[in-house]
Amino acid sequence: MTDKYHAIKGVKDILPGEIEKWQFMERTAGEVFELYGFSEIRIPIFEKTAVFTRSIGETTDIVEKEMYTFPDRGGDSLTLRPEGTASVVRAYVEHNLYNPPSVVKLYYMGPMFRCERPQAGRYRQFYQIGAEVFGTENPEIDAEVIGMLMRYFEKLGLTELELQINSLGCDECRPKFKEALLQFLKQKKSLLCEDCQRRYERNPLRIFDCKSANCHEATKDAPTIETHRCENCKRHFDSTLSYLDKLDIQYTKKPKLVRGLDYYTKTAFEIVSKGLGSQNAIAGGGRYDKLVEEFGGPPTPAFGFAIGVDRTAPLIQQSAISNQQSVPLIFIATLGERADLKAFELINVLRQNGIRVERDYEKGSLKSQMKKANKSGARYTIVIGDNELDKDTVILRDMSSAKQDEIDMERIVEILVPLQLDMDNIVRR
Ligand code: AMP
Repeated sequence: MTDKYHAIKGVKDILPGEIEKWQFMERTAGEVFELYGFSEIRIPIFEKTAVFTRSIGETTDIVEKEMYTFPDRGGDSLTLRPEGTASVVRAYVEHNLYNPPSVVKLYYMGPMFRCERPQAGRYRQFYQIGAEVFGTENPEIDAEVIGMLMRYFEKLGLTELELQINSLGCDECRPKFKEALLQFLKQKKSLLCEDCQRRYERNPLRIFDCKSANCHEATKDAPTIETHRCENCKRHFDSTLSYLDKLDIQYTKKPKLVRGLDYYTKTAFEIVSKGLGSQNAIAGGGRYDKLVEEFGGPPTPAFGFAIGVDRTAPLIQQSAISNQQSVPLIFIATLGERADLKAFELINVLRQNGIRVERDYEKGSLKSQMKKANKSGARYTIVIGDNELDKDTVILRDMSSAKQDEIDMERIVEILVPLQLDMDNIVRR
């Protein structure tokens, strides 16, 4: 059976043991982003193909070769979302979220799909947590949102991160830069890899992102956007950087940083982890001031980012996970059939009162039940035998000190509720 059925290439199961880090990431995102005024939005897993082709760019790798596109039964072309921003913008415009005019802050999380060559840190179904702000051009927002992202990573206990930042210019200055770049590469075209020769014709800025050593060499002395930015873009970039300084956020200016999506204008950034190999970008984002208009909405500047969960989760230390919600407070061990029945009822009452309780469903010997209690990590074990049943009591054993108390059955809830609250508090701190 296992030979026949296995997850397809490039996708994976996230099992208990690993999922706790994912849940920690998702929960912390909610907490941190909501503190900064963001609300969650749930967007569909698939959209009409045009939602992605038009926004991400017809000549990007994603659109040219990585999308899962299929006809639905009615003949429409649909695509599994390769990223979240296009859908959020589509929803923003479709539901007139620009009315009344105000700054709208949204975040999302979920799976994305790209048919890339699978390797460590690169999957065909991967997960992103993203955030988007609509309605302001103010560079304060660029810095504030990057600051929020850094605060988020700090909460996850991640260090050794580098913020790389650039400004990609706008409709006014980018075409001039593109022209200068084409001019420079004209003589070097034959040195470029096959993909980049195509990019030269269709999307020359993407050549900066190529991993091939030859392309790297060919673009080593290429002009960058830095010397071509218009006054407006220059001012915006300088202000963004000075706001980052005010937040004490370190950054590295990377004049050759481009992103895999064409909709970015002005600020573009990536967070890379020094501890990862070649797939070392754990988040990326930037400003996209034209996209809402392209979707038929009013001119609305916007800024956003996406975090790669698959790459970030393995960087989180087990000790940083401030949640062990699957650890029970109580393990119930029983001796005899009467005790089993009592335990069955008691477990129900305890859970109704918010107490996390586990038991040995196989009902082995007391010794083997105590072994399982130990393994479960439970703080206390309740032991019920005939003796206790006759007196309407239970034995409550503290698993770390081995201290045992006999307590009245009717007082159990009253005694355990504060212990559970205590445990949750310690865990949350
Ligand atoms: P992007 O949407 O391309 O800007 O990517 C944002 C983040 O998503 C990246 O920095 C990665 O951490 C993550 N990511 C992108 N593509 C993949 C993939 N195929 N597998 C795993 N993570 C990915």
